[in-house]
Amino acid sequence: MAQKLTLTKPTKKLTAEVITELVGEHALPIIEFLRGKTRISEFIIAEELGLEINETRHILYKLLEHNIVSFIRKKDRIKGWYICYWDLNERIVPHLKRKMDEEKLEKMQQRLAAETAQQFYLCPNACVRMDFDEGMEQNFTCPECGNILQQQDNTRTVEFLKDRISELQAALK
Ligand SMILES: [Zn+2]
Repeated sequence: MAQKLTLTKPTKKLTAEVITELVGEHALPIIEFLRGKTRISEFIIAEELGLEINETRHILYKLLEHNIVSFIRKKDRIKGWYICYWDLNERIVPHLKRKMDEEKLEKMQQRLAAETAQQFYLCPNACVRMDFDEGMEQNFTCPECGNILQQQDNTRTVEFLKDRISELQAALK
């Protein structure tokens, strides 16, 4: 699928949604703190947000995996050790959102294919859910409690998947 790299700045809401899903809600204060600033020392981030330096670095590296942040490393002339200075690349967010939606769409389409390809059979006591072949092997009788298995009506699941798929397809246009 051809990918359009959107370079418009995302809304704060979209950024929060994407970061929460990819890294976790705990990363949001760092995002908020870095927004509008440039080259911020990780020690400043940790101090300002009241976080341990290791915890701060851990979150920053998680964000880095998705290119949401970037850094430059500089040797501190006085202390003699290296410090990373971080920047927020918020413009990558719409691109990440698109990738997430594409992955979700693919999974939904696979699930829809599985749901429509075969019928499922349920025990009325909810012990088992089987496809046709498995049901045949058990003579459509529950191996746990002996009840007759009933064909599952998956109309609502199929409807739900179809709706979600059209939503995602519309969002990806
Ligand atoms: Zn049963």
